[in-house]
Amino acid sequence: MEKLQNFIDGQYCAPLKGNYIDNYEPASGKVYSLIPNSDAEDVQLAVDAAEKAFPIWSKMSIEERSSILVKLSEGIEARMDEFVQAESRDNGKPLSLAAHVDIPRAVSNFHFFATAILHYASESHNMEGVGVNYTLRKPLGIVGCISPWNLPLYLFSWKIAPALAAGNCVITKPSEVTPYTAYLLGKVAQEAGMPDGVLNILHGEGGAVGDAIVKHSKIKAISFTGGTKTGEYIARTAAPMFKKLSLELGGKNPNIIFADCDFKEMMSTTLRSSFANQGQICLCGSRIFVERSIYDKFKAEFVDKVAKTVVAHPNNPDAKLGAVVSQSHMEKVLSYVELAKEEGGTVLTGGERVILDAPYENGYYLRPTVIEGLDYNCRTNQEEIFGPVVTITPFDTEEEVLMMANSTQYGLSATLWTSDLKRAHRMANEIDAGIVWINAWLVRDLRTPFGGVKASGVGREGGWEALRFFTEPKNVFVKY
Ligand code: NDP
Repeated sequence: MEKLQNFIDGQYCAPLKGNYIDNYEPASGKVYSLIPNSDAEDVQLAVDAAEKAFPIWSKMSIEERSSILVKLSEGIEARMDEFVQAESRDNGKPLSLAAHVDIPRAVSNFHFFATAILHYASESHNMEGVGVNYTLRKPLGIVGCISPWNLPLYLFSWKIAPALAAGNCVITKPSEVTPYTAYLLGKVAQEAGMPDGVLNILHGEGGAVGDAIVKHSKIKAISFTGGTKTGEYIARTAAPMFKKLSLELGGKNPNIIFADCDFKEMMSTTLRSSFANQGQICLCGSRIFVERSIYDKFKAEFVDKVAKTVVAHPNNPDAKLGAVVSQSHMEKVLSYVELAKEEGGTVLTGGERVILDAPYENGYYLRPTVIEGLDYNCRTNQEEIFGPVVTITPFDTEEEVLMMANSTQYGLSATLWTSDLKRAHRMANEIDAGIVWINAWLVRDLRTPFGGVKASGVGREGGWEALRFFTEPKNVFVKY
């Protein structure tokens, strides 16, 4: 069976203790490769390599650094098919999604930050007759990037691209559940001419190798995307060490639909915003609020379309949903369907496993699920499920839906459907979220600030925000 390796100091290598963990294929429920079970000793190796590499990388001209990162982006593009196949197999997502979203977006992330750094200017503040201040923006040194399993290479590259562009050396850990495309990236970095030790990719469990990255005193910043509980633990560990922290955490996003919306466009987008990637996108709108006058019409059409949605093997070109990421995640999602029933909800469609024909009968397939009749305040409507499950709830007034939308501990994103311009702006201003889409969903411009409020995170990624995070400003004053 294939054994994945760590990528340290520009070379692939086995974990020092020689321990491995199983990597499952969600589509079949079978183990198909082994992942290094790395620990603090492997992290130390990576830190040693990164320390050696930092003076080389940080002092390289911006043009040279940019050119290596452009090559990295092109290297992924040149191996598009290999990356697409690997992402879909490792995660369970439809091949078409990996081909149209995940891998092209990883290519864009590297390209975007490779070129953004060429235009990254720092400030100067003149004091008339006194002197001038100018601000240097220096790389931090060695930084840690930890990413989740839902959009594996997409979110992995979203962190490491700005970190590298800004001149840092990176020690990074993909989710143990989806390590494969990060593993492939080492080869591309070698081919792109990335100096040894600049990018170090370690595999293994969050509680072991992830924790060792967070705790290492020479790692100056942690950029983390994952669950709110893990983020809380990381903040508790890293904050007393005065590390810079960027935390992109969970969500329970509202999708608010007013009667005056473009119904057809809203319906097709709402199907995607509910179930894309099996509902495993932090930006999915899992709480759907519908104005009462169109509630019955919405419900009838939405439930009908969801019931007809094809759940199939990721390689099937008709698949709209593939497999969810793991057995334990599938069980968690199903347990929330049971909870919803206990809380008085009615399952309008879905709520169960889909068993495919052999040899995929043990794959982790779930039917997309729509639930109604729940109080906005119940656990099903307050806790993140992160699977193909949405609730639908009618509302009568703007004030009421705003109160329900803002009632959770989360505040990542929100979607609004209305043709009333004033209402759209009014609502966007009042919703507790870092990102609001009006008459759209998941339209992304890499220059915009990305992140959430409340328990959805601290800090922002994207554009200058990411480059500011990965640099330290130093003000210099010169007297006239
Ligand atoms: P987790 O928090 O379980 O894991 C995220 C990453 O952290 C993984 O690489 C994990 O490793 C690692 N990790 C776990 N424990 C520790 C630890 N003690 N110290 C250091 N690292 C650790 O999240 P999931 O992977 O389950 O991802 C799903 C979550 O991510 C959802 O809550 C979702 O909302 C959120 N998310 C947020 C986004 C945002 O932009 N706000 C975007 C995408 C997802 P391992 O896999 O080995 O456990």
